[in-house]
Amino acid sequence: MCKTGIVYSDRYLKHKTGLFHPESPKRLLEAMNALRKNGFINNERCMLIPPRKASLDEIKLVHSEEYIDLVKEISERGGGYLDPDTPLSKESFEVALLAAGGILKICEKVLSREVRNGFGLVRPPGHHAGFKGRALSAPTAGFCVFNNVAIAAANLIRKQNFRKILILDVDCHHGNGTQEIFYSSSDVLFISLHQDPLTIYPGTGFIEEKGVGEGEGFNINIPLPPGSSDDIYIEFLDEVVMPVVKEFKPEFVLISAGFDAYKGDPITSMNLSSYGYSYAFLKALEIASISSAGRLVASLEGGYGEGLSRALVTVMSVLTGVSSPLKDKRTKSDPYVIGKARKVLEEIKKAFRDYWPL
Ligand SMILES: [Zn+2]
Repeated sequence: MCKTGIVYSDRYLKHKTGLFHPESPKRLLEAMNALRKNGFINNERCMLIPPRKASLDEIKLVHSEEYIDLVKEISERGGGYLDPDTPLSKESFEVALLAAGGILKICEKVLSREVRNGFGLVRPPGHHAGFKGRALSAPTAGFCVFNNVAIAAANLIRKQNFRKILILDVDCHHGNGTQEIFYSSSDVLFISLHQDPLTIYPGTGFIEEKGVGEGEGFNINIPLPPGSSDDIYIEFLDEVVMPVVKEFKPEFVLISAGFDAYKGDPITSMNLSSYGYSYAFLKALEIASISSAGRLVASLEGGYGEGLSRALVTVMSVLTGVSSPLKDKRTKSDPYVIGKARKVLEEIKKAFRDYWPL
């Protein structure tokens, strides 16, 4: 039991989004090529795992029957638009079940200790999908169909009786679907690091969105100014994420792994290198080894430029415990951006001081 599991299937390519859509099947082909080229496919460190389909009961823990039927119906009539951002093709419903099931399967493999941890190279992505699809006040479902990570968390709670799941969302966009689903729950600690929602889709993810009822204090948004680089990212991981998760002591760590905060991503304005991403995974792995016997599963969300390949390879190096064959130069933020980020840091500490040791 020393391997990292990678869930992948060529069937994920059958969710077709059209010629010019950034969330294309090509993304997964490029990601798989990068893993293959750098020695991460089926060797002594990595095991390729075929996905299974999620059952409707598993999906219903998170999504309404009405929404599930809508996705099915659009797919069955040959495809169409869930909304202007989110096209579906004929096989999208089945592929979306396979994406959610892929993450469920890798969680099962981690629980049975067949693999140490895992990464799901799945699509369509999931973190913008709320109970009925479009989450909170978002204009669209943002390329997402079923919330793969939320479905995994809900099933871990239901089937394993876990009461402390950490979902760390490092996608450049706010994980509004995940926030919506667990907003009143203390079983899931949701921490999302993302670009300032005043500057990007979906327009939510502010500090004051702290959760309600039992979930108050268990929803932590970290909105970062555009241009934030590795230095800022690391500071927030050290000063906010780590003190909170150490206190929370998760029984299972899930990561919404979007690589669109990487410098030069075509649809965002952040400036991470693969160093920032590897640091986030290193810290997540550290907390998993302290409190969840190493149980950690990451699921691909966004990532539309070279970051998808470069950061993925670095992250796989962290998960498998080897030094990365790719090395990026650490990125530094402009003083103006650092000034803005420090204010955000102070605001977060102030807002969550009553709940966590900040
Ligand atoms: Zn994203």
